[in-house]
Amino acid sequence: MPALRARLAGPEHPLPFLVREVAVLARLFFRLSVALVVPALLAAARADALDHLTLRRDAGQVKLVGRVVVEAADGGVLFETRESALWIVQPEEQVERSKDEVTYEPLAHNELAAALLKELPPGFETYETKHYVICFNTSRAYAQWCGSLFERLYTGFTNYWSNRGFTPTEPEHPLVAFVFADRASYARYARVELNDAVDSIIGYYSLRTNRMTMYDLTGTAGTSADRGSAAQIARTLAQPDAAKTVATIVHEATHQIAFNCGLHRRYADIPLWVSEGMAVYFETPDLDGGKGWRTIGKINRARLLSFAAYARRRPADSLLSLLRANTRMQNSQTAVDAYAEAWALNYFLINAKPKQYQAYIETMAAKKPLVSTSPEERLAEFRAAFGDDIEGLDREFIRYVARLR
Ligand SMILES: [Zn+2]
Repeated sequence: MPALRARLAGPEHPLPFLVREVAVLARLFFRLSVALVVPALLAAARADALDHLTLRRDAGQVKLVGRVVVEAADGGVLFETRESALWIVQPEEQVERSKDEVTYEPLAHNELAAALLKELPPGFETYETKHYVICFNTSRAYAQWCGSLFERLYTGFTNYWSNRGFTPTEPEHPLVAFVFADRASYARYARVELNDAVDSIIGYYSLRTNRMTMYDLTGTAGTSADRGSAAQIARTLAQPDAAKTVATIVHEATHQIAFNCGLHRRYADIPLWVSEGMAVYFETPDLDGGKGWRTIGKINRARLLSFAAYARRRPADSLLSLLRANTRMQNSQTAVDAYAEAWALNYFLINAKPKQYQAYIETMAAKKPLVSTSPEERLAEFRAAFGDDIEGLDREFIRYVARLR
């Protein structure tokens, strides 16, 4: 058990997952060093009664309906709403708290769709698939293209892990994506979460809201009659930069699935080399046939090239530094190399050490929200799965990746 601290340490900003935006990534995994809390309510939370919480924030009051996920010794809580958003509420912000007789239930697809439409600017509609609620104000054809891409990724992702001995769980909440018609309206909406980084981010998954936000990549903003049509989508995917943009969307969608299907838990201290490396592992796009994404675990050419360049100047403690802390993944000076190494490491471990990787992913899946893991604990978790000889493993890793073509 970690030592108990009274106060919940939360993010100053919402916590979107970002692919290449390391400046914002630096704010991403909140100050876990001071986030040791009491996870006592975790076990009970799932089947618990519905909680109501009124809080004071920004000179106004907010009413939340959902459940307490974690409660700190001083009464601060991590609260999850029925829409699946996470709130960290300090004791002095709490105005009123009560429990219902009713058991907590997430919102159904149609209830969630109605609630989301109230939050969005006018003009949005919803499109639902088996696992997703997509809110859009672009063409229905584009929303359908997104839905089909996400569902294929969902099936691919869950089958992939099931075949490797780790069975993902069904998401408790419908998975939500907001798709804006154009970059400008997306930016107006997303700036609240991303600040200025919004200018260089084309889509993101937010750990706080549990949603993806993006815009229509066909990007003709209502001027073209066939905007979002199959023909327009095919033309967009034929553009030279399409691979990168589709990879970004698949990357973010992978995060969302991983955090909703039991591989990771939101606000748990999952090392970034794992969560990011896994998302990069899945993002490798395949633009043949106009669908944007088809296969899993193909060699990611861009990351392999990037890692090959890094390997020539790679320090002896590179693996250790990646395993011990998120620093290299978060720092804009080192992130390109670190993302490449995280992809290569996940690729190596998934393919060459499948049993050990499965055991390690099970350890990650069991991590509780807002409980931090020290660098030593991270290493110990890694050693427990992959063995004590990290130097030997590192040599094997480099030899393995050097042979990839
Ligand atoms: Zn990411």
